[in-house]
Amino acid sequence: MKRITLVLAGLGLVLAAGSPALAQDKKSMPNMIDGTLYPKGYTPMPIKNGNYPRVYSPNTEQLGPDEMRVIALGTGMPNVTTGKQKASGWYVELGNGEKFLFDVGNGTMENLAKLRPDWHKVYRVFASHLHADHVGGFAELYIGGWMNGRYRPLEFYGPSGSEPRLGSKAFVENQVKTWAWDTEGRRTGFPIEGGKVIAHEFDFRNEGVIFEENGVKISSFPAIHVLDGSVSYRLDWKGRSFVFGGDTYPNKWFMKYAQNAELVVHECFFTPETLAELLGTPYPQAVFITSYIHTPPEAFGKIMSELKPRHAIGYHFWTWHDVLPASIEAVRKTYDGPLTLAHDMMVWNVTDEQVVVREIFADENVAPTSTSIAYRKAKREPPEVATKWISPDINAGKWEGYQPPPLPKKQ
Ligand SMILES: [Zn+2]
Ligand SMILES: [Zn+2]
Repeated sequence: MKRITLVLAGLGLVLAAGSPALAQDKKSMPNMIDGTLYPKGYTPMPIKNGNYPRVYSPNTEQLGPDEMRVIALGTGMPNVTTGKQKASGWYVELGNGEKFLFDVGNGTMENLAKLRPDWHKVYRVFASHLHADHVGGFAELYIGGWMNGRYRPLEFYGPSGSEPRLGSKAFVENQVKTWAWDTEGRRTGFPIEGGKVIAHEFDFRNEGVIFEENGVKISSFPAIHVLDGSVSYRLDWKGRSFVFGGDTYPNKWFMKYAQNAELVVHECFFTPETLAELLGTPYPQAVFITSYIHTPPEAFGKIMSELKPRHAIGYHFWTWHDVLPASIEAVRKTYDGPLTLAHDMMVWNVTDEQVVVREIFADENVAPTSTSIAYRKAKREPPEVATKWISPDINAGKWEGYQPPPLPKKQ
């Protein structure tokens, strides 16, 4: 009998006829509720009379029809650190079922995975700028999100730069080129559409709406940070509003576009003293970094005092016990309104009645949220395509001591 070994590239799985793994039995049926995929055994429940549990357990709470849920996936720095604080990433979920990512910084997709979302619905990301702490998790969303259930292209919104090579379109094109070996080899295993990315680049000088769909409006406006090409965003939907500040020196556009907003997120960088002490940065450079290309805590407080948002959120520093008190003290010199200096995996629920701030209780070690029927049926290349990917002389090196199971017939 002629021996055929077919390894599905990227997955490393060998298909076997009659394998129980292939059977679409009851056990493997996805848990779909109102068109959204949930982990097995979970049914989200409505919150009654505004009584939220003390902590948020992902996939247990239904959003109200006018409710917004914002989750901090990452609040830290570009430095490689241990797990407590990833870089920048914010996840916004609306009562109409829409989901948005603002920034996809290093490590943030790991925190998104802990929420066990329906990955097919997490396909829109709005990048504030192209520093790694804001977009360094791109490959994890692009490829990991695809593996986890996305069967539509990823849509990346981001600013232009002062020249084409410094813009979001070039960033996406270069990422796609960089991961060519990876994605080429996954074409038989995974839905073809999920392996694509659409870049929506807009002018970094833009002021106004860049996205409008299903009642959701997202506007962009310029920020001042290192090079041309840092921006901030404002999301409006049904009276709810979320403003997300990219890295910036305090700027007039933020003061204009964050007017009358509910949740206002702005960077609240280290004090110069803290930066000098933590990283050994010479003091003049520490002043320059914290106060000329970022926003230090006292300036953050001034901004919020002027804006008076429903709730102010500061991030982009380490909330360690020897750092946080100095940041709070500095902010409170200039702002006495509602405030969170955020760490990772905090959640803000916003309704007409209240803004609820909580911690998230999520398992560290969870499997992805299964996949939908639509994902399983989505078009992919037939397995035979993969048999041609390895050269005959390399294929000839297969160890004869192993006999693979025969390839199954088309199902
Ligand atoms: Zn940053
Ligand atoms: Zn930056």
